[in-house]
Amino acid sequence: MRPFELTAPATLDAAVTTPGTYLAGGTTLVDLMKLNVLTPRHVKDINDLPLRGIDTRDGLRVGALERMSDVAGHPGVYPVISRALLLSASQQLRNMASIGGNLLQRTRCGYFRDVAMPCDKRRPGSGCPALTGANRGHAVLGTSGKCVATHPSDLAVALVALDAELRLAGAEGTRTVALADFYRLPGETPEVENDLRPGELITEVVVPRLDWARRSTYVKVRDRASYEFALCSAAVALDLRDSRVVDARVAVGGVATVPWRLTSVEEALRGAPATVEAFTDAASSAADGATPLAHNGFKVDLLKRTVVRALVEGSRA
Ligand SMILES: Cc1cc2nc3c(=O)[nH]c(=O)nc-3n(C[C@H](O)[C@H](O)[C@H](O)COP(=O)(O)OP(=O)(O)OC[C@H]3O[C@@H](n4cnc5c(N)ncnc54)[C@H](O)[C@@H]3O)c2cc1C
Repeated sequence: MRPFELTAPATLDAAVTTPGTYLAGGTTLVDLMKLNVLTPRHVKDINDLPLRGIDTRDGLRVGALERMSDVAGHPGVYPVISRALLLSASQQLRNMASIGGNLLQRTRCGYFRDVAMPCDKRRPGSGCPALTGANRGHAVLGTSGKCVATHPSDLAVALVALDAELRLAGAEGTRTVALADFYRLPGETPEVENDLRPGELITEVVVPRLDWARRSTYVKVRDRASYEFALCSAAVALDLRDSRVVDARVAVGGVATVPWRLTSVEEALRGAPATVEAFTDAASSAADGATPLAHNGFKVDLLKRTVVRALVEGSRA
């Protein structure tokens, strides 16, 4: 790890107007600094800032510094969000890691995390070895010739399904962006992962009220039962009346370069009976547009099956 200067701004204003990289729980940042993937000269510990609070009175508002474990355990939080958090990382990490940091964690692509390897995301123009190398865990949706790394956050998948927004603060003031618009596809510039402007901070996550999201769940398929990132995951919420789907939200993770909303599946579900057969029909378009690599073709089928499983579990919730 390289030497760096650590400060702890006392106000939001001081935080957004001084140079440096934000440190919340540190479970991603310190990791990547130890690997020399990130080498910031100035690190700003934001833990003294007033970015706390969980409010479930009208939808959900969560301060960016709330810990994953506190949000997961809050009784008013939509089940799909609690579940996505509880299936993330480990209890120790969830006790430390913040909601804002979770949404800004970096990909777990082995080539990105290994500074001895080329990586267009870490060193633009150096190439993407995952295209032809060890790509079993990589994305099949939203990829480009420069990057096939998956987006790692489980929480982001649940939040995209629920139309969540981020409140951001910067030197020029505050603004709100839809989480679905916040993340960028890699395209020709995989190093640009989101819409955050220099110095900007996530202050709060806002989930609009959706009463029927009380019937929701998150299914995560991975190589081992805990402490592991998703090979594929699905967040669903279902509005059911008389055993028919009135409305649905579906998003998937572990298969795409950004959290991936499946509006075609949602459309196919509206008006359908809440049966395995109808869920299977609706999920048939889930992998449309997928471009599998040599070792991750299994994700195409896995994606459809994970969506069906999540719909079945969601319909019984
Ligand atoms: C072994 C292991 C397993 C894991 N498994 C999972 C998993 O299964 N699913 C999953 O979703 N995650 C998983 N994680 C990732 C973990 O959830 C993240 O490391 C954590 O959520 C990051 O939060 P943090 O507060 O520690 O962020 P930090 O490490 O402090 O920061 C992460 C990044 O976000 C920036 N940042 C932090 N807060 C803000 C803010 N408010 N505004 C602007 N920028 C900010 C930092 O500058 C940094 O770039 C795992 C991590 C480890 C180490």
